[in-house]
Amino acid sequence: MYGFVSSVLAEKGRQVYTIQPAATVAEAVRQMNEQGIGALLVLDGHRPVGIFTERDVLRRVVDAGRDPALTRVAEVMTRNPISIGPDWHVEEAMSLMTSRRFRHLPVIENGELIGMISIGDLLRWVTIHQEDHIRQMTDYITGRLS
Ligand code: AMP
Repeated sequence: MYGFVSSVLAEKGRQVYTIQPAATVAEAVRQMNEQGIGALLVLDGHRPVGIFTERDVLRRVVDAGRDPALTRVAEVMTRNPISIGPDWHVEEAMSLMTSRRFRHLPVIENGELIGMISIGDLLRWVTIHQEDHIRQMTDYITGRLS
């Protein structure tokens, strides 16, 4: 009903914010704050090896009493992030995020990283489409549509 992940990416863009595993948590947090984002994909060269999100800052750094200036991203990231393809349905991506309890998904096509979507991107997308659907139904019910 809400189309494919490729359409969401076409609308929001393919920009993916990344960081190297050897960077410090302090550097990662600065980058997240500067870009206004909640997750960074961790790349070793061009290969995605992990994901580091604001949840990891809370759980694995602050609550664990680690020093952000001395802790490397590699120590506190989630390894081997789950990714999806652009041909996934929006509903499938949302249900994967819900069942696995995370809010970010890298999008990979033929082994190449082509984007990253968040639950916020998907909710925005679904809301826009629901509004369209409601407008069409209202037009139909009130006879504005021939
Ligand atoms: P989030 O809700 O996205 O902030 O992430 C919650 C937890 O899941 C954090 O420990 C993240 O590192 C991890 N995480 C986020 N996205 C993914 C993903 N696509 N695959 C595996 N783990 C993830």
